[in-house]
Amino acid sequence: MKIEVEEFKRKANEGLNNAHQRELLGRLPVIFKALRDYSFSTLADPKAALERGAAIRRESIANLPAYLEAFEKKAVENGANIVWAEDYREAREIIIDLARKKKVKTITKGKSMLTEEMELNRALGDNGIDVFETDLGEFIVQQMNRTPFHVVGPALNVAVEEIADLFVSVMGVEKTLDLGGLTMQARGFLREKFKQAEMGITGVNMAVADTGSIILVENEGNIRFSTGGPKTHVAVMGIEKIVPTMDDALHVLRLLTRSCTGQAVSSYVNVINGPKKKGEPDGPDELFIVIVDGGRTKIYADPDFRQVLGCIKCGACLNVCPVWNKIGGYAYGWVYSGPIGSILNPLFLGLERAHDLYHATTLCGACREVCPAGIDHPRLFLKLREKRASGDRTWGARRLPLAERLTFSAWAWGISGEGRYRTAGKLLRWMLKPFVTGGVIGKLPAMGSGWTRFRDLPAPAERPFRRRWSDGERGTTK
Ligand code: SF4
Repeated sequence: MKIEVEEFKRKANEGLNNAHQRELLGRLPVIFKALRDYSFSTLADPKAALERGAAIRRESIANLPAYLEAFEKKAVENGANIVWAEDYREAREIIIDLARKKKVKTITKGKSMLTEEMELNRALGDNGIDVFETDLGEFIVQQMNRTPFHVVGPALNVAVEEIADLFVSVMGVEKTLDLGGLTMQARGFLREKFKQAEMGITGVNMAVADTGSIILVENEGNIRFSTGGPKTHVAVMGIEKIVPTMDDALHVLRLLTRSCTGQAVSSYVNVINGPKKKGEPDGPDELFIVIVDGGRTKIYADPDFRQVLGCIKCGACLNVCPVWNKIGGYAYGWVYSGPIGSILNPLFLGLERAHDLYHATTLCGACREVCPAGIDHPRLFLKLREKRASGDRTWGARRLPLAERLTFSAWAWGISGEGRYRTAGKLLRWMLKPFVTGGVIGKLPAMGSGWTRFRDLPAPAERPFRRRWSDGERGTTK
């Protein structure tokens, strides 16, 4: 997957100019909102449920090392093999080595954002191993070699016509635009792969510390085929996926499915407690759980950002985001998009490289309102900006150019005292006057040009608000 976070502006413009996408994004938020609202209304106390979910995630992250140790101990007792990987490279090597040892030629895979981060499919392909995504949306994305458009619906923007053509070229089937027909084509193709697969790879939605279980949530049944059929199951999980107890996991699950797709519960919930036991009819002979750091301990070590590890990847913040709902998912240039992508992509890839993402926010807080993990996105956007502005080396930030720093210091000084604020207002009105034509400012030079590139600025009022207020002009608009 090509990383294109630096291309945010260009790709956002592409999204804005894509008529099909615009039409889709005009409808999606309404549908997502209705589904979410209804499903949350079935809870006795939705607000309390959200608060409990956030508390569980906070507790999980606050005591992450202890819960991870407890999980490892229990999972090993259950018969699983636990392997730790410090970074993406090590995680890829572990899985490739394992596949080689087991002489694996074909792998079927459940949807996993972490394996997208790791570019696992590419690495397996480079080593001569065929890997097939089996979640329908992820299968489409894989075959098109694209980044996910949405964390929950990776291909929900792809037009039916495009999917039909893709299936013709990948599967050699007859072209159909019938949705049921397309699904059956994918099902037929993937069934053959499930039969051939010697290894199944999945992600992990939650790992339960006190039972050693992993939980996988799905709607298509494809994960069951990947975990139940092949002799070896490899589950790849980020260190943050831990929850303390099964009771906690079930509560988070209630919020996850409601926030994702508006379902009280997904069609399938797989609770896996180890490999197949003696006498059991299905399940893998061996279960490997690869626990990946991949930059997460660096986030954990920063008290300003640690809370973001609580994210359960439900996608609710994307659905309510006024920016995502205009530009779509590709603009974010990597695995994650929307508000959570504007935090995770810079933290994983570098604050400098991905700085456009956390500036392209309205700070409206709609994301925070719906987040079942209690993440305060606006605060984190501001923290990212602050760390970049101050040139925080931990996060690879460079100091801003001197001219910019001086401008903003002067600005901060100017607006932090009443007299100075008034004088600055006067000065600004005087400076803007030459640019006013027909009651608006159509074009500003240099640093101000961004403000007027796509819209006019209203001309400053002849008499400022403060003067009108003190003159008793309350309730008038002029
Ligand atoms: S930040 Fe919150 S709302 Fe967004 S995907 Fe993560 S858990 Fe869901």
